[in-house]
Amino acid sequence: MDERTLLMTPGPTYVSEDVRQAMARRITNPDLDPSFFEYYMETCGALQQLLKTQNKVLILAGEGILGLEAACASLIEPGDRVLCLDNGIFGNGFADFAKIYGAEAVFFKSDYDRGLDPERLKEFLKGDSDFKVATLVHCETPSGVTNPLDRICPLLKEHGIISVVDAVSAVGGEELHTDAWEIDVLLGASQKCISAPPGLTFMSISKAAWDKINSRSTPIAGYYCNLSTWAAWYENRWFPYTQSVSDIYGLRVAVERLLSEGNPQERHRKIAGALRSALESSGLKLYAQDSHSNTVTAIVLPDNIGFDTVFNQMLKEHNIMIAGSLGYLKDKAIRIGHMGENCYEDKVYMTLKALGDVLEKNGVKLGCDMHIEFARNMKK
Ligand SMILES: *Cc1c(COP(=O)(O)O)cnc(C)c1O
Repeated sequence: MDERTLLMTPGPTYVSEDVRQAMARRITNPDLDPSFFEYYMETCGALQQLLKTQNKVLILAGEGILGLEAACASLIEPGDRVLCLDNGIFGNGFADFAKIYGAEAVFFKSDYDRGLDPERLKEFLKGDSDFKVATLVHCETPSGVTNPLDRICPLLKEHGIISVVDAVSAVGGEELHTDAWEIDVLLGASQKCISAPPGLTFMSISKAAWDKINSRSTPIAGYYCNLSTWAAWYENRWFPYTQSVSDIYGLRVAVERLLSEGNPQERHRKIAGALRSALESSGLKLYAQDSHSNTVTAIVLPDNIGFDTVFNQMLKEHNIMIAGSLGYLKDKAIRIGHMGENCYEDKVYMTLKALGDVLEKNGVKLGCDMHIEFARNMKK
């Protein structure tokens, strides 16, 4: 990798110079410096704007997985029935975190190549809605499927179920209205659309979620994942542990970049749409059948070519890093991340030009020059 390598993976993404400069700033003592408490609070305020919420926001010092685990540890009590909405690898894996903290996980299973169907969920909940908490994923990063939170979360709320949404790969790139969509816990991370380095997770927490945390009959197992320790951090000017000062400086600049753009979701929508049409015009197949993500696209790997060949030739001959997929999609899909700082016409154009080159060199027949088609779609 060098300064010119295009990092077109679905996170971590390219980190811009101003974010890197912010991280190089002189640090302070976050437990003693009065101005740092204000800085942290203002950064939470910027995140509230991005998530469109009035709920309290926290930034935790750990990668996205910490957010998932902290939400489960704090909200779930042993024996709680938790509804796990499962239409992908992350949705399925969420249940493992819930179970660690004693949940009786009940799955609502759905096709892995389609968005969750609110109508089917509605029917399911008519039969059984005795759940304290539900876990779900906004964008299933391994498959490029984005779930309709706008219809699912209000449905869960109607049944008094607290929603915990992993929006790690969607925040900043997909339309999101945390309060209007009645999402209780919405969590994200620094290294996807936000385009800061990995290291931070953030989450908004509704009153209903805080009430559940505060009215537990059993103590929260653990300290680092215990959200209740944050209940009065600002009033007491006290953090449960020393904050990752440099990471927060970087996050702040990255979030402000997105906010100052106004509507980054529209940029993602346009690029993703033009990319998908170009791929389809070439004859390549998208993995998702509907509910396509605007931040990551999974392409079915054509027959007779291995993913390693595509990856290595893209990197060695074109200096572009793309991703494969995981789990059941390992060696079956190519993923292009077009999130945050990766989501610009020039970068996607270059990626498609190189991908077309590599595939054709390996005997894949394409129906068009994908980069040309993409540029044409962008003008529409
Ligand atoms: C990236 C990501 C996370 C964080 O997981 P890592 O595997 O540690 O990167 C969590 N949820 C989703 C949906 C993600 O895309």
